[in-house]
Amino acid sequence: MANLGIPQNTIEILQKYHFNFQKKYGQNFLIDTRVLDKILSAAEITKEDCVLEIGPGIGTMTQYLAESAGAVVAVEIDKNLIPVLEETLACYDNVTVLNEDILKMDLVKLVEDRNGGRPVKVVANLPYYITTPIIMSLFENHVPLKSVTVMVQKEVADRMRTGPGTKDYGALSLAVQYYARPAFVANVPPNCFIPRPRVGSAVIRLDRYEEPPVKAGDEKKLFSLIRASFNQRRKTLVNGLCNAADLCLPKEQVARALEEMGLSPAVRGEELTLEQFAKLSDRLFEQST
Ligand code: SAM
Repeated sequence: MANLGIPQNTIEILQKYHFNFQKKYGQNFLIDTRVLDKILSAAEITKEDCVLEIGPGIGTMTQYLAESAGAVVAVEIDKNLIPVLEETLACYDNVTVLNEDILKMDLVKLVEDRNGGRPVKVVANLPYYITTPIIMSLFENHVPLKSVTVMVQKEVADRMRTGPGTKDYGALSLAVQYYARPAFVANVPPNCFIPRPRVGSAVIRLDRYEEPPVKAGDEKKLFSLIRASFNQRRKTLVNGLCNAADLCLPKEQVARALEEMGLSPAVRGEELTLEQFAKLSDRLFEQST
């Protein structure tokens, strides 16, 4: 099968199937062999690996993955792409295409069924409208993972790897950094896709930690606290947290916990490190239970 990373080959396939791009599915297909090579080399795929690809599109990256990996499971929501994938991936016997919505799948079960529960590598040019829910569901559900190498909106890649005191720092940064070590791979301009997205893109690799870098007594409570801290970014942490109805935290209790940690009562959520959030969570929720 012709290499779909070459724009002319992608155009031919799209025309042959009279394919209409569906904006609601975030369809921007890669048409740059150098970018594809970069993603594959960053993901360090070997024949030992089982790869989960989210959103194969017409199968461009899937072809590259199939050449390098032991097995590839590709999950595509758009049923119109299934006959296309049957053609473009026909010569690979190590690829399984599933016509499903990734957000509705039990991914722990998928990894159990397809890889005997051993960790998989996720590689994807993600649909941008659901980047955060996909990443969070992989991590929060403890899907067995070695690494996640993904194309995301440039701004989202920045949010994933930044630290306290920057405008991009927020709940996503803390969640990603609790579960994984982020490494920037490459910036990718809009002209590497068809159709061109309106935003710049970037490839990022997230290596799953075996143990999180900080300890928190209750992971769920830690993340409720983090979300509440950034819901009202402009407010002080004390005000932001006592306004969060689901946490039921009295103002005095938050103020006391901050003081015991040596933090100013006027501190904002964006100034706290992951470690400080973990300590604050333990203090607040141990006291209230
Ligand atoms: N991997 C292809 C490439 O690089 O050319 C396509 C990437 S495109 C940015 C995102 C793909 O994800 C599309 O094929 C889209 O139909 C698919 N997609 C969107 N939402 C999805 C979902 N909820 N579950 C599975 N696939 C989805």
